[in-house]
Amino acid sequence: MNKPRVVLKVGGSNISDGETIKTPQIAKLANLIQSLRTRYDVILVSSGATPTGYTRIKIDKRSMPNKQALASIGQPLLMQIYRDEFGVFGIEVAQVLMTKYNFDSQTQIQHAKDCIDTLLVHNVLPIINENDSTSVSEFIGDNDRLGAYVAHSFDATILVILSDIDGYYDDNPTKNQNAKILPHITHIDSKDLQAPQNPNAEFATGGIVTKLIAAQYLIERGKSMFLSNGDKLEITQEFLLNGVQRSGTLFGNWTI
Ligand code: ADP
Repeated sequence: MNKPRVVLKVGGSNISDGETIKTPQIAKLANLIQSLRTRYDVILVSSGATPTGYTRIKIDKRSMPNKQALASIGQPLLMQIYRDEFGVFGIEVAQVLMTKYNFDSQTQIQHAKDCIDTLLVHNVLPIINENDSTSVSEFIGDNDRLGAYVAHSFDATILVILSDIDGYYDDNPTKNQNAKILPHITHIDSKDLQAPQNPNAEFATGGIVTKLIAAQYLIERGKSMFLSNGDKLEITQEFLLNGVQRSGTLFGNWTI
């Protein structure tokens, strides 16, 4: 019998601090995914090619061609780290690079889905990233949206976004220390979807708005999203395996 599918999206800030790759963090992610695979088919969406490239060559990452070049250098290195760290748990990994154009065409979505389905049947973990060497930011724009497209197109019931923040707050928690986490959201106000996109970390491309846009996309399609802290993977583990939400924000209605 097919297992339900979950998509996990890790942000650039989970992978890199801008100077080094957080290999111990990737090892913890591998541990989480191993435990989730007892119950779910897991697809990973990973940012981080550009910061990984920057660990090798220090060129100005504000220029688009430089970013693309850094991504080209970083993507195979990132996959090597994934291969090594997931290999410890006996998890075989595969790389799938996508662009917005793939999601514009039902035929291309189906081809990609055939590939993902086959990988999952053979117990291989698909690791999806935007093809940053040929895409520029206006294509998909950020991996939060990519995660939402992946979750919807490849039949996952929920997208888990692992970020540098515990969840979605009633105000920006990095500016307002009285901001309160909102555990459950079923409706997103259109004005919140139009706020300026203001990522926190140097390599982050999204900010909270792109996460809300991803959540809205999924809610409209009857799917859900869970936003949680990538440094507190036990929260996601408990949520997905036991249905207990100790922190994080659930967008939409999802039950185990
Ligand atoms: P990632 O790299 O994980 O995708 P981002 O830095 O792009 O993360 O987005 C998360 C950041 O969004 C948080 O660290 C926080 O600074 C900012 N933010 C702004 N408003 C909010 C809010 N209402 N709730 C949570 N985070 C917010």
